[in-house]
Amino acid sequence: MHHPEHLLKPSTLWPTLLERTAHARNRRAILSIPTTPEVIEQSGVAFQVRVITALAMKALTTAAKSNNDPFLPYDPDLFVAEVSPTHVALLSKFNVVDHHLLIVTRAFEPQEMLLTREDCAALLICLSEIDGLGFYNAGSAAGASQRHKHLQLIPLPALTEPRLPIEPLLRSVKMAGATGIVPGLPFLHAYTPVEPDWIDPRGDSASSLLASYHSLLRAVGLSVEATVGSPAPTAPYNLLVTRQWLLLVPRSEEYFEGISINALGFAGALLVKDTAQLAMLRKQGPMSALQRVALPREP
Ligand code: AMP
Repeated sequence: MHHPEHLLKPSTLWPTLLERTAHARNRRAILSIPTTPEVIEQSGVAFQVRVITALAMKALTTAAKSNNDPFLPYDPDLFVAEVSPTHVALLSKFNVVDHHLLIVTRAFEPQEMLLTREDCAALLICLSEIDGLGFYNAGSAAGASQRHKHLQLIPLPALTEPRLPIEPLLRSVKMAGATGIVPGLPFLHAYTPVEPDWIDPRGDSASSLLASYHSLLRAVGLSVEATVGSPAPTAPYNLLVTRQWLLLVPRSEEYFEGISINALGFAGALLVKDTAQLAMLRKQGPMSALQRVALPREP
């Protein structure tokens, strides 16, 4: 059980994450997936495509698949911090990117349910401690592989430009009220910039994040109504959250030609299983792949 004095103290998440990563590696609790980086350009975006190395792929497919909830109970060797009364931070077991953090609900909640104010608060605590990309894969068709509600955070390098491959396109956003459309994204989506000090968890930033999330859902025609007693499930979508902006993309399906696509795909980062998938993606184009797993834009 959590105790208030065990909750994460300000400015401790990053050092704790480093220390817990070293611990988890020692205990062989993390199965890092080695990949070879490639770049495929299409539509003004230099997509980062990671190709899983053949040996890693073999290890992954032999890793025991289980239907159990991996977050209840979680592996104590993957524990990072008590983020809030409702959420804990864990290390991702199968990580492609270093220091990949999962922000999971202590009690079971289904991944399809709308994000709550508590989810927003927990994400903001982590995002204020670590500058990175927060994301949410709402439902299996949005790329979620676990049913227990989990937000995710990947730290971003401070100095590289663009920080995410998709960012150059976002500069030409056309705002209409609280949300906007990015002309370079050829599928249904909604974008909103965020106020510079919004990230400060001491203010009521969780409510502002929740309100922005609701306005994005409404902009793409998804319901934000709660049913009696619990937030309603929604259709599948991906949500991307940075310190500067939010992007929400409704989904039609998980796979493009055997490639599973989640929120990271819409940031411009894709993961493929082998060089055959890489070649196929080069031929078809990553932006076309995203278009196929999203929904058509309004005319
Ligand atoms: P997603 O596939 O987007 O639903 O994210 C699920 C995350 O859970 C991935 O980052 C996996 O690496 C991670 N994961 C799967 N099994 C475990 C586990 N037993 N402990 C911790 N993380 C896990």
